[in-house]
Amino acid sequence: MTTDSSRGAQTVLAPGATIGILGGGQLGRMLALAASRLGLNINIYSPSADCPAATVAQSATVGEFDDVEAIIAFSQTCDAVTYEFENVPAMSAKAASSVTPLRPGARALDVSQDRLVEKSFLRDQVGVEVASFEDIGNVYDLKRAVKRLGLPCVLKTRRFGYDGKGQVIIREEAEIANAWDTLAPAACILEAFIPFTREVSIVAARGLTGHIAAYPLTENVHRNHILHTSTAPAKQDDGSAAKIAAKILDQLDYVGVMGVEFFQMEDGSLVVNEIAPRVHNSGHWTQDAGCVDQFEQHIRAVAGWPLGDAVPRHSVVMTNLIGTDITAWEDFAATPRTRLHLYGKTETREGRKMGHVNQIV
Ligand code: AMP
Repeated sequence: MTTDSSRGAQTVLAPGATIGILGGGQLGRMLALAASRLGLNINIYSPSADCPAATVAQSATVGEFDDVEAIIAFSQTCDAVTYEFENVPAMSAKAASSVTPLRPGARALDVSQDRLVEKSFLRDQVGVEVASFEDIGNVYDLKRAVKRLGLPCVLKTRRFGYDGKGQVIIREEAEIANAWDTLAPAACILEAFIPFTREVSIVAARGLTGHIAAYPLTENVHRNHILHTSTAPAKQDDGSAAKIAAKILDQLDYVGVMGVEFFQMEDGSLVVNEIAPRVHNSGHWTQDAGCVDQFEQHIRAVAGWPLGDAVPRHSVVMTNLIGTDITAWEDFAATPRTRLHLYGKTETREGRKMGHVNQIV
């Protein structure tokens, strides 16, 4: 244990301290690499010993995410704990926070794990615009809600949805029963369809002292429901996305990096789609923009250090390498002004994020 102030909410970690990360995917890997540069050690907690993050971290602990005793034992070896995915069970997060600082805190997980809780929080507590939504427990709720929200609309599972999984667009009344059968018996929400002109996001950090550093607005293009490219800084940014992100961070008394995804309407107004209480795929461009990247920024926040410079010196286009896209790695490696980031995954699967390239423009 290496901390230079007392254990608790305000603990600041000194170089040589250990940060535990719940989750061992590519986000954990890039967090571990950033932490190493700052002289901090990382212990990865993951069910798999050879996950992408474990191979670059100082230590790794194998355990299930719902094994509360194992999480407590792991947390006792760490000076602070963070997470790289939002589906850490609430019980486990609370157990970790009972023995060591958990940053961001368990409330950010409670809010972001359930789309109904998340949308209610954003609309009622933060006071920002979200799609109109209804809680759906059965097909009768769904029929009534479709009448209220109108067509088209989007049925989503409340939990465990990502990359377009766990959601169905309903375009006509005749599709209602089928949409319900596709997702049932999961608890769902129905959202009004937002006729957006583009999708944008903000990645922002809040430090232990409440200081906020936001990266510029990023424009995102999806392919097959998976993020394809992120371009930053996005054209036409009036600063309102950063203001919304700051309100969310303050409301959660958040410590760390968060991704906030928006739909932008023709008149420029923003509707919040969802929040991710972690480093975010649409922030990978920061690695090659000449500023402190989102991974180092998160580690700085978790360690209680001052936040770094979030002002990019270059524009960057990030492209995800999904599945067999990775076979062109040599071409990317040979392309000028292009940086290749590979996640060390040994198995290539359709839809799997294998790496990304940042093109400096
Ligand atoms: P999500 O899993 O909620 O991030 O949704 C994945 C993608 O589906 C979004 O990036 C949008 O392209 C689309 N989408 C989700 N919800 C809506 C909505 N209410 N209206 C229009 N498009 C949506």
